[in-house]
Amino acid sequence: MMFPVSSMISVEEARERILAFFSRLEPESRPLLDTLGQVLAHGVVAPFDLPQLDNTAMDGYAVRAADTTGASEASPRELKVIADLAAGYILETPVKQGEAVRIMTGAPMPPGADAVVPFEETDELMRGVNEAARKSATVRILKGAEVGANIRFRAEDVTAGQTVIAAGRVLRASEIGVLASIGLTEVEVYRRPVVAILSTGDEVTEPGQPLKPGRIYDANAHSIAALVKAYGGVPKLLGIARDTVEDLTAKIHEALDADMLVTSAGVSRGDFDVVKDVLAREGKIDFWTVRMRPGKPLAFGAFTAPNGRKVPHLGLPGNPVSSMVSFELFGRPAIFTMLGRPDWQRPVLKAITRDSIVNADGRRFYARCIVTLGDDGRYYADLTGPQGSGILTSMSAANALTVIPEDRPYAAPGDEIDVMMLDWERPL
Ligand code: AMP
Ligand code: MG
Repeated sequence: MMFPVSSMISVEEARERILAFFSRLEPESRPLLDTLGQVLAHGVVAPFDLPQLDNTAMDGYAVRAADTTGASEASPRELKVIADLAAGYILETPVKQGEAVRIMTGAPMPPGADAVVPFEETDELMRGVNEAARKSATVRILKGAEVGANIRFRAEDVTAGQTVIAAGRVLRASEIGVLASIGLTEVEVYRRPVVAILSTGDEVTEPGQPLKPGRIYDANAHSIAALVKAYGGVPKLLGIARDTVEDLTAKIHEALDADMLVTSAGVSRGDFDVVKDVLAREGKIDFWTVRMRPGKPLAFGAFTAPNGRKVPHLGLPGNPVSSMVSFELFGRPAIFTMLGRPDWQRPVLKAITRDSIVNADGRRFYARCIVTLGDDGRYYADLTGPQGSGILTSMSAANALTVIPEDRPYAAPGDEIDVMMLDWERPL
């Protein structure tokens, strides 16, 4: 068997080579609520002003400000209440001198009124709960109001014709709210990639099945599928391929309608199972040694679908931690790129390590750690314990990864290190 096994490459070089294969997928129209985390394909223009009408920001009385000038508790101004106006209703009767309208938050301002006096600045609250008294024919104003007080003005948020969300914006809850506020139910976003996920290895067993001696349950397909979902893709679980040419070949063919195939295991140098053989025969594949820990072995290539379309293939190492960390570093940027999102970089912070970290083999060390904010305003990093690449609970206990550079052999307790945040919450 001959494989193009290149020498060690950096994480950046591996990522660059991988991302060269990916581009933004085509746009499609989707129900608004399904688009969380996707990228808007075309700018959206407001068809009308927001708010559409001047309206009250408070529950209170719509008045003519001039009628309240000089009002105080000692010297209240008494106004005639001509109507009671709830949000959602329009009052066309003008408010004349000496008059007021009892008005609820969001209700459009009646003509003639130019200020709202909140209930707290009237005798409203002194009238108790008696409905008839509450709706009495007069109200006493206890404080003068300026013109415009407590009014939300037409178009103060958005003007008709204005782009409310620009093309290329990532849709978060607030953008989805803005789009709904102009009445949209669907928007055009770049499609979510379908990511086919395949575990390989005779020892790997589907959870739910009985576990024979010497076998293990398939952690990788599930952690990777969960990451695919979390990062905005659609996982397509292909199950487990046995280490036979026939099974692997058949399973790979099932991935040919996906936007990307992710396999785990069978790509390390010492691996002489059939995975490499089949991958090399079915597509074009490179086996890399990446200067990182955990991780290191990584395969990347492409299969050609019957219609000639190239399906990129990311071959992750089998160890569950290596597999997740490698997907984090290489799979996440690929998914983001297909979504049209350039923001795949994780935030890297400076933190003080409370542990000593040994990094003697010239690789970049992504140790699992918990980052917390100290009382002194600095971030602190604690390793999650044993860092073996098979210890998946170390990943579960972490909210960050250290980024110890290739040329830094040691960090002592109290030293500053870089940490890459995966989550801001500390696992409980
Ligand atoms: P390999 O990359 O095939 O050398 O596998 C490295 C280690 O990862 C071995 O201990 C495998 O048993 C383990 N492994 C492979 N696939 C999975 C999987 N899907 N879930 C959990 N562990 C796995
Ligand atoms: Mg194996």
